[in-house]
Amino acid sequence: MRTVYVNGEYLPEDQGKVSIFDRGFLMADAVYEVTSVLGGKLIDFPGHCARLSRSLSELDMANPVTDDELLGIHRELVARNDIDEGLVYLQVTRGNPGDRDFAFPDPDETPSTIVLFTQDKPGLGGDTAARKGNKVISIDDIRWGRRDIKTVQLLYPSMGKMMAKKAGADDAWLVEDGFVTEGTSNNAYIVKGNKIITRALSRDILHGITRAAVLRFAREAQMDVEERSFTIDEAKQADEAFTTSASAFVMPVVEIDGVQLGDGTAGPLALRLREIYLDESRKAAV
Ligand code: PMP
Repeated sequence: MRTVYVNGEYLPEDQGKVSIFDRGFLMADAVYEVTSVLGGKLIDFPGHCARLSRSLSELDMANPVTDDELLGIHRELVARNDIDEGLVYLQVTRGNPGDRDFAFPDPDETPSTIVLFTQDKPGLGGDTAARKGNKVISIDDIRWGRRDIKTVQLLYPSMGKMMAKKAGADDAWLVEDGFVTEGTSNNAYIVKGNKIITRALSRDILHGITRAAVLRFAREAQMDVEERSFTIDEAKQADEAFTTSASAFVMPVVEIDGVQLGDGTAGPLALRLREIYLDESRKAAV
């Protein structure tokens, strides 16, 4: 049985409990992070820590732990659950005020709730899924206007994944005002010749930790990077496409709305970037 972390305690997973009045449960008043584990070590951990602090401060939510404590909890859970390849999920909510009320509770009276658990994913660092690539469909982006904050409001992204599944695809890309914002749970890129094109950072998309690392590695490898919006039609005519996320690293996209990209196989630039990302991130893992 898994060991999970709930408000300062390590517990068997069936004993990890949160109140029915918790604002994470009632209002999706909560933020989260997902950090991958390769070789028993944490990938891009400082980036996830920094983004957690930012999400919390944008929502005036107290951070219940220091970065050092957070690293200790992550490592303890990885060790106790014997994770070689997998994920650590972390969620912080505005806590349990003991009743339901729209107004935020006083943080001195209602401490944040913090929960972490691991997910074992043997083969995560392999390339079986990446060599096959993903098929995506495009759907309207009807999410709220602060997608830069990593909240647990994941209903529409879940619906998007279900729409993709129903259409025989793997995932969905979200489109707003004619332009692709991002994937349901990843950042979106197209490749034209030697140029990697991805939407610039703003409140419209999550500031992916993997995105930051991948763009840095791409520039270091003398690849051209253009941070600008692109339409789904431009994407369908691209040489390659891919997504990035902490849980899938760099994932080639081989089909958009039924239109095959290139010869319909995972693109060489995406696969090369995946290799660079995995090599460099393993070296820097903590
Ligand atoms: N965009 C969205 C909407 C996401 O949910 C995620 C993954 N949580 C990402 C982008 C990728 O971010 P990261 O590389 O930090 O996992």
